[in-house]
Amino acid sequence: MAGVLFFGYVADGRVQASSLEAATCAKDLAQKTGVPLVGAVLGSNQAAAKTLSSVGASEIYFVDDSRLQPYISEAHIAAAEAVIRACSPDIVLFPQNSETNEWVPRLAAKLDAALVTAASQLLLENGELVAIKAISGGAAKAEYSFGRPLRMATLSAGSYEPCETTSQEGTATAVTLPEVKTSVAVLESIADATGAGPQLKTARVVVSGGLGIGTRENWKLIDDAAAELGAGVGGSRAVVELGWIPPSKQVGFSGVKISPDLYIAVGISGAVHHLAGISGAKTIVAINSDSEANIFKAARYGVVGDAKDVLPAFVERVKELRAR
Ligand SMILES: Cc1cc2nc3c(=O)[nH]c(=O)nc-3n(C[C@H](O)[C@H](O)[C@H](O)COP(=O)(O)OP(=O)(O)OC[C@H]3O[C@@H](n4cnc5c(N)ncnc54)[C@H](O)[C@@H]3O)c2cc1C
Repeated sequence: MAGVLFFGYVADGRVQASSLEAATCAKDLAQKTGVPLVGAVLGSNQAAAKTLSSVGASEIYFVDDSRLQPYISEAHIAAAEAVIRACSPDIVLFPQNSETNEWVPRLAAKLDAALVTAASQLLLENGELVAIKAISGGAAKAEYSFGRPLRMATLSAGSYEPCETTSQEGTATAVTLPEVKTSVAVLESIADATGAGPQLKTARVVVSGGLGIGTRENWKLIDDAAAELGAGVGGSRAVVELGWIPPSKQVGFSGVKISPDLYIAVGISGAVHHLAGISGAKTIVAINSDSEANIFKAARYGVVGDAKDVLPAFVERVKELRAR
């Protein structure tokens, strides 16, 4: 059967927004090529599969097997291969995340499929599938064609609007996970601390810090400002590498791409890789001690000064205005 297959992700029993973004792209391609839209979810049960099918998919395949949790790439490759063999799609889409970054290229090699990772758009040009992808740290866009009958892509988060769901559910079909050959055993899982307050990906206001914050101890300024403003917390890759914040809070090309109403960049230089994550932000405010910092080119409002003085003063002022 020809068709467009999208893989969804379910965490804590909830279908992740990235699944619905992949569904939007898959639905568009299925409609334009006149083939069925099918979905799949790994490590999840029939109920989650039914929810995912409400995007208009005729069928959702699910692999409900304890060997898929905790995550091991070999188990995901085996499960996805079983699903693909069950429905024989031409095009397969995955949300891009740290797990699919690892296992999808290996799956593509195993199935001799053409793969474009971190695509931002998939188009049909003269009936041929084309992927658009940011390159050179987001400074340019490249167009890729697929040189194999089986075409796969991982989609950057935020590239598509989440697909609307309806009350109509498609068929949920269980797929059996075959034997998994792996030399990996998970001994311990340590949860990534996401902290209190709004989640970075969906927050309407984000306070984000960079190396200009100075020290890990000073990071409290960012947390306090975010708490005061009801904002999500983000940061540059530089502070993630120093371990001041977890990788899940990294904003940018190789981190999370966000589109809040207000993005407050504190002590962030505005490298092209960072800006690639905030091109969708409606208003950017920058606080930086260097008046020549690149972030000011992207910012609508800027304050040149020491973040340790400016940020607390800014928060105080917001408090005063709110108290009126
Ligand atoms: C392939 C690739 C992918 C990457 N992906 C990402 C990504 O996803 N996200 C990302 O952020 N980076 C990414 N990077 C790294 C990126 O290029 C930059 O190195 C990084 O963003 C710099 O972080 P920063 O702005 O915190 O630090 P810096 O560039 O060192 O900037 C610190 C800023 O703080 C200012 N400052 C210093 N003291 C103060 C003070 N007291 N008060 C106020 N301001 C002060 C300085 O003037 C400076 O502008 C990537 C790089 C590569 C090669």
